[in-house]
Amino acid sequence: MFESLSDKLSAVFDRLTRRGSLTEADVNEALKEIRRALLEADVALDVVRSFADKVRDRAVGAGVVKSVSPGQMVVKIVNDVLIETLGETTEAIDLAAKPPVAIMMVGLQGAGKTTTTAKIAKRLKERHGKGVLMASLDVKRPAAQEQLAVLGRQVEVDTLPIVAGQTPIQIARRAMEAARLEGYDVVLLDTAGRTHIDEPLMQEMADIKSYASPHEILLVADALTGQDAVNLAKSFDERVGITGIVLTRMDGDGRGGAALSMRHVTGKPIKLIGAGEKMDALDEFSPQRIANRILGMGDIVALVEKAAAAIDAEEARKAAARIAKGKFDLQDLCDQLAQVEKLGGFGGIMGLLPGVAKMKDQIAKANLDESLIKRQRAIILSMTPQERRNPDLLKASRKKRIAAGAGAKVEEINKLLKQHRQMADLMKSFGAGKRGGLMGKAAQ
Ligand code: GDP
Repeated sequence: MFESLSDKLSAVFDRLTRRGSLTEADVNEALKEIRRALLEADVALDVVRSFADKVRDRAVGAGVVKSVSPGQMVVKIVNDVLIETLGETTEAIDLAAKPPVAIMMVGLQGAGKTTTTAKIAKRLKERHGKGVLMASLDVKRPAAQEQLAVLGRQVEVDTLPIVAGQTPIQIARRAMEAARLEGYDVVLLDTAGRTHIDEPLMQEMADIKSYASPHEILLVADALTGQDAVNLAKSFDERVGITGIVLTRMDGDGRGGAALSMRHVTGKPIKLIGAGEKMDALDEFSPQRIANRILGMGDIVALVEKAAAAIDAEEARKAAARIAKGKFDLQDLCDQLAQVEKLGGFGGIMGLLPGVAKMKDQIAKANLDESLIKRQRAIILSMTPQERRNPDLLKASRKKRIAAGAGAKVEEINKLLKQHRQMADLMKSFGAGKRGGLMGKAAQ
């Protein structure tokens, strides 16, 4: 999967890997190649643009961590942005509604709609213990309803009995009534496809939607169709409104364009991935896995992550060593707050400082929420370096100046100083008398 894109990116990164340091020119050179590779991989133009901008913003000026090459650093950044573009979390099918919950499947002919309908039915039954009823609303294609019935028998899920001559709406009504009467949890409505998007199809989808009020409308799209799949998703979303996407044929060696663009263009999550013709070949969408496959460089990503963690730990160790010596000034506090912001909370930083996890509760009590962290850093940054190193200098007139500089009140500065004193005392008590203990370990 995505071989061509991965190969192209590899070539860019190989070149970067051989260079000494990451310059703006390096980043621009890499971006040129990345942009070209993405365009060739059928990624939508505006997606490519925003992707490249994000990578540039992060890569230029980003500190290259020790022990990794600049190329590896760019790989890490590209990987992160890929994951963001793909959607960072995996979203499951949403069944949180009053049963019977209707799920409407839409898409073009041959995308794998009927197959996917049966795969989903099997999964909901086996993994979630749901009573599922499937109904084919495709009255255009001869044998479409029969095809679903055959698959239903195969996965042992009930299908609505076929009544010749009914309209899609009549079938939908019958399906919902049967589900209500017979106590099914979920009704899967497999709609008709066309070879291309046309108005009668969209109108039919809109009518079914307004009748059945489906909780989910899943667009089934063929990953091999690249840019077409993106346009398709856009049209279906604008006209009918979709709640998620299922990308089929991800087992083929298609280019990565569709996966990358669809989420960005529609803002709708890719919920599942079809990876084969068998009824079990349905996977949860994993942004990390897809990003790794697009890059084809999972090893490098892992290496960069490890290196980045090593650097963070190195900084934490330095801080811990200072703390162990009883030195914890306002500059240290400011650095720590910056780290906390960067790592997204105290959980991350505490993990890096062995033993300090015990302080978590005390810090939580200090109520350091995000906006407070920002304010506190602003206050410290309004101080002179001398003041940061020696808080005792902070008498009333200096506090007034700092308060004016940070747009804060003098009381806030007093509160911050008090908090700093408490933290410094606490840290000193950890460091003192326990050589080789808590801080000793952290400083080793
Ligand atoms: P529909 O017209 O959209 O209902 O498409 P079908 O469900 O009839 O599927 C068309 C063909 O694609 C069938 O031969 C399926 O077995 C095949 N197919 C569906 N999903 C996948 C998939 O994820 N991978 C592969 N390789 N084939 C698939």
